Amino acid sequence: MPQSKLNVQLLEVTQNALSVIYASARQCYSPEFAGEIFKNETDLDKQEKFIEKIISSGHLSPLEHVKFTFAIEGVSRALTHQLVRHRIASYSQQSQRYVKENNFEYIVPPSIEKDENLKKEFKNIMDKIQKAYNELLKTTSSQDARFVLPQAAETKIVVTMNCRELLNFFEERCCIRKLAYEMLLICKRELSAVFSMAGPKCLKLGYCPEGKFSCGLAPLKDEALGR
Ligand SMILES: Cc1cc2nc3c(=O)[nH]c(=O)nc-3n(C[C@H](O)[C@H](O)[C@H](O)COP(=O)(O)OP(=O)(O)OC[C@H]3O[C@@H](n4cnc5c(N)ncnc54)[C@H](O)[C@@H]3O)c2cc1C
Repeated sequence: MPQSKLNVQLLEVTQNALSVIYASARQCYSPEFAGEIFKNETDLDKQEKFIEKIISSGHLSPLEHVKFTFAIEGVSRALTHQLVRHRIASYSQQSQRYVKENNFEYIVPPSIEKDENLKKEFKNIMDKIQKAYNELLKTTSSQDARFVLPQAAETKIVVTMNCRELLNFFEERCCIRKLAYEMLLICKRELSAVFSMAGPKCLKLGYCPEGKFSCGLAPLKDEALGR
């Protein structure tokens, strides 16, 4: 089956996110009880300013009290293999044991997508894999037949991360994954006090630390330092 499109939906964000972070952070510096601070402090501008201050000071643990849950589809198993390396998160991914892939969709990488010959060759390979998989299903379980499926196979996953983990995730993944950018846009829209400055690590560093794997948007370290 042809490629399906990336789709990222926000299922849920912690209610009163700003006030939850504010009350948690203030608890560290105030003799007052966070329960009272949460009820009594309603000035959102004041909360935003305070939160921006604690973030720039590196006091990030209050951000852990607010979570975002995303439903994601139209991504490859290659992508989710990288995604699930982020350990401070929760995942629920479509199973290739329970869901048969007898008409699997696949993701075509951009460099192959833009080259007609390569794209044709890629499709041929996917078709062959599909045939092999369907053949195996006649005599074995989907649990074992899935071993021939490619990393390009499309998958769906639900991800929950807290704001601190999201900041780390965006630093590491925005430059390599469109998915991370889509998630970042949603986070900026929902909670700009936390995410207005979030993004790939080259933004903070002023250079890209990826060497020959750089996406090319930021200068390499030596170029940035004039060496
Ligand atoms: C450009 C790039 C290339 C990569 N290449 C490879 C590769 O070739 N091979 C490979 O295996 N992986 C590779 N990775 C994966 C990478 O090493 C991390 O496993 C992955 O990005 C998850 O990052 P994390 O540990 O910061 O996230 P999380 O697991 O979510 O952790 C968040 C933060 O919590 C802290 N933390 C979590 N667990 C521990 C712990 N056990 N001990 C101490 N602190 C902890 C750390 O501060 C960490 O940054 C690559 C990642 C990137 C971005």
